[in-house]
Amino acid sequence: MKKISVIVPCYNEQEAIPFFYEEIVKVSQSMEQEAVFEYLFINDGSKDQTVKVLKDLAQKDERVKYISFSKNFGKEAAMYAGLEKSTGEYVAVIDVDLQDPPNLLPKMFHDLDCGIYDCVATRRVSRKGEPPIRSFFAKMFYAMINKISKTEIVDGARDYRLMTRQMVDAIVSLKEYNRFSKGIFSWVGFNTKWIEYQNVERRAGETKWSFWKLLKYSLDGIVAFSTVPLSIASFLGLILCLVAFILICIIVIKTWAFGDPVAGYPSLICVILFIGGVQLFCIGILGKYLSQTYLETKKRPIYLIKEQNVDEE
Ligand code: UDP
Ligand code: MG
Repeated sequence: MKKISVIVPCYNEQEAIPFFYEEIVKVSQSMEQEAVFEYLFINDGSKDQTVKVLKDLAQKDERVKYISFSKNFGKEAAMYAGLEKSTGEYVAVIDVDLQDPPNLLPKMFHDLDCGIYDCVATRRVSRKGEPPIRSFFAKMFYAMINKISKTEIVDGARDYRLMTRQMVDAIVSLKEYNRFSKGIFSWVGFNTKWIEYQNVERRAGETKWSFWKLLKYSLDGIVAFSTVPLSIASFLGLILCLVAFILICIIVIKTWAFGDPVAGYPSLICVILFIGGVQLFCIGILGKYLSQTYLETKKRPIYLIKEQNVDEE
């Protein structure tokens, strides 16, 4: 008998939780012979009845544990709290909206239980039902980050995965504040088996990720897992110096040979604006890294708990 902790981050999910609970209980029943379950719901500062729904469930079913944050700390913080508080030999992370099909769990469990892998993870091979513009930017993001980062970020990888305790402990030991889990899961290493599935649409409630939130998340991911953007300034600087040098030569020779005065107020303005833009852009990149460093140095806790029914050891 293995104990599986299922970590479920929830933010304003009062509609989705009952559906999810029903499904996960079915899956647990089908695995009765092999595993016992612990459902660890993280209420990430929901403004709706999520916490009440969770408390009701906890009263009915002692496998239901909940941790309720003092405010919204984000899904990354919720996952971290779950990983830290989980007690199972195997730990799963899963979304509550049923976009991560719970019925994959038995297969993931068997693959992991063979002892060859430390983690069985899932990736979506389609993005059906998603706005095309979002898919396009997602593709661009994966292409770019994999060029500039040594850590492999798998396209379409979900946070939905089942891990061994050893891997979970490794992840928990990374205490950084700016958490980009897709990168962290890969950075810690260990053997990962990938299971592919078609995109499933959300059962109830609505997505918490607006386009801008996703854009900011992807930028944070780049800052967390690559320092290549920091070299852009040096690279552009070198190129511009080269261009300037060539231009100077041309102008000097032209003036000597033909003696024509250099006219060009408009071109001058264009050049000044261009270089000014490049400089501001590079300072912006520096600023981004500096702000992340600033936040890390504060060493603020990743999350704060308001209430929970998990025993503190
Ligand atoms: N979530 C969370 N905190 C947040 C945003 C989301 O805990 O600040 C949870 C949410 O309740 C869900 C999961 O993270 O279980 C994935 O969120 P969502 O389904 O909105 O993302 P999408 O699937 O659209 O990328
Ligand atoms: Mg979802």
